[in-house]
Parts: sequence; structure tokens; C-alpha cells
Amino acid sequence: MTPSAARRVAAPRGSGADAVAAVLDASPFAMAAFAADGRLVAANARYRSAFGGLAGHDARGALLAALQVAEDAAAGVQVAAPHSRRWYALHWGRAETRAGALDVLTALDVSEHREALQSHKAQQERLLFTSRMMSVGEMAATLAHELNQPLAAIVNYLNGSLRLVGQAGGPGQVERALLSARSQAEHASAVIARVREFVRAREPRRDAHAVAEIAGNVIELLRLEAERLGLCIDLALDDGLPMVYADRVMVEQVLLNLVKNAIEAMRDVPPARRELRVQARENLDGEVELRVLDRGAGLSDSEREHLFSPFFTTKSDGLGIGLSICRSIIEYHEGRLFFEPRDGGGSVFGFTLPPAGDAMTEPAA
Ligand code: ADP
Repeated sequence: MTPSAARRVAAPRGSGADAVAAVLDASPFAMAAFAADGRLVAANARYRSAFGGLAGHDARGALLAALQVAEDAAAGVQVAAPHSRRWYALHWGRAETRAGALDVLTALDVSEHREALQSHKAQQERLLFTSRMMSVGEMAATLAHELNQPLAAIVNYLNGSLRLVGQAGGPGQVERALLSARSQAEHASAVIARVREFVRAREPRRDAHAVAEIAGNVIELLRLEAERLGLCIDLALDDGLPMVYADRVMVEQVLLNLVKNAIEAMRDVPPARRELRVQARENLDGEVELRVLDRGAGLSDSEREHLFSPFFTTKSDGLGIGLSICRSIIEYHEGRLFFEPRDGGGSVFGFTLPPAGDAMTEPAA
């Protein structure tokens, strides 16, 4: 018998097992046929090299146990084959023969497909991480400023305290200065914690989150950048908004991108006309819709066409991946990222998120 030939296994004479073996042998997939009692009737070479185990009166049961697959597992369940360590999707079929019913197992090699999926996922995660790092890189100057202020205040309070020690009436004043120093130090460490949490790469985790918390965190991260441009970010959240079912950090990344783009779009706009608004409302489909409105130059028709394509940018220092990453994140959340012109000039960039559930409503502001 050649190695590629299907082996007939302990089949009674005249059972038709030879015919079954011949059929399995012609298949490009790993295949085996089992009798009703679990005995292996025939298996082709591909099956044997992946799953081995030809012996045993309940070869089917032994195989399922070795693969940790339930008897009634859904078609297409994926397993790592014990011999080849490759991944297979299992499909069961029933063949009625003159000698009785046969359970026919077809195992499709899905290793390459899995690898491609995994490498795509790893690539996506790297991209997300890089874009978060870039956002933080761009924010570095702002952060340095934000941290510098409390640190300078702490040094001042401590210097003052040192001077006061030993002076008449000192202890009360020293205590007040130390309390202020402590609250400044807590502020500085909260800033660092917020940035750390934002940068950390991790598996997405969706939970119920209040839009007010998400928007508040983002506005806090961009507050100084906005102040430098003399911009006040106006936050308008409808009362009674449902909570959203989302990975908070990912959605903050999207909102951060949109608000940063809105700030950048207004760099060349006269200060009196700069106006940035973040809105949230429940739309007619029961989704929560977040919108970022600016008074920048808006977009031309051809810009609109390429807006969400990777590497589309009109900025000399732009990378053009922000919006395409935002779109992937929002689609991952079963939402929609959209653009529309703003009445009176400027742009509206927005996205939808699914609500967390009927029972979860944000407390009124
Ligand atoms: P980048 O900011 O690196 O260019 P993005 O993907 O975030 O990358 O944005 C792509 C392009 O979309 C920008 O270069 C700009 O032309 C346009 N764009 C994005 N947001 C706005 C906005 N609020 N107003 C006007 N144009 C915008």
C-alpha cells in the first residue's frame, strides 16, 4: 500500500470499507469514516498524519476526547491536530451504506487562515498602539507643562514650609502648605495615570461606560492645547443619555483624534470665530451619537471622497491614518463614523455607539 492510500481498518469482509477507503483517498482533505459504534472504518493518509490513532474500538470517542471536542460541537469547530500541530476545522457528515451508517469526518486545514488572521490582528494592535503613542508624543509638550505646574507649586509650598518651621504661629501655616503640596502631587500623579492608561496596549474590553466620563477624560487631556489657541471646548450632553457598550480607552482615542483634528482645523481661523463643541445625544435607532463640531475650513468634495482612506492627509506633517483607525475602532464597536458639513461653516465629525442596555441610564448632569 502506498503512503497516500487510505487505510481500511479492521473492516469486515464485504462491508464496502474498501470502497469507502478509496473515496476518502481521493479527497484533498483529511478524512475518516467511523461506524455507529465509533470504530474507525477507514482513514486517508492526510488524516493519519494529522490525527494518527487508528486503533481502538471507540476511535471516534478517543479522538474527540484527545481534541477536547464535545460530541455535539458545532460544525467547523477548530482544533490543533495532535500529530501535525496544524489547525483543522472539523465537519461531520452522515453516509448511509449497505453495511450501515457511517459518520464521515472531514478536517479542513485552516492553519494558514488562522495565521493570517492573527498577523492581521497583531498588525492592527501595533497600529493602534503606534497611533496612541503618536498622540501622546504630540501631547508631550502639553503634558510637560501640565506636570510642571503642580511640581513647581509643590516645590514652592515645601520651600515656604521650611521657612515657616520654627517661626511663631508656623505649624498651622505649615500644615496648610503641606496639604496644598499633597493635593498638587496627587494631581500630578493623576495626570501620569491617565496618560499611562491611554498608552497601554491591551486586549479590547467592552463594558458599560458613561459618555460624560469618556468626553470628560478627552477634554481634560486636550485642555491645555485648546487653551493655547484660546479655545473653550463646549460640552453639550443630552440629559438621560444611555450608557454605551464600549472599550473606554479605544473610544477615548477616537474622540481625542476628532477633537485634535477639529482644533487643528481652526489654527488659521480668526480667534473670534473659533468654536469647538462636543455633543452627545440618543439617535432614533437608540444609539448614542457623539459629534465634534468645528469652524474650520470644512472639506471639499474630493477631500470628502478620500477622507477615511488610510494615508489621506492635507497636512504637511500629517500621516493620514487617524481617521482610518477611528473608523476601524468604531466599526469594531458596531457603530458608524461619519462626516457632515456644519451649518454656518466648518465640519461635523461624529460616530455612533451601541447602548449598554435598557436599564443603564446616565444620571442627569
Ligand atoms: P492627519 O490628521 O494625520 O492628516 P487624519 O486621518 O486624522 O490624519 O485626517 C485626514 C485628513 O482629513 C486631514 O489631513 C484633513 O485634511 C482632513 N480632516 C480631518 N478632520 C478635519 C476637520 N475637522 N476639518 C477639516 N479637515 C479635516
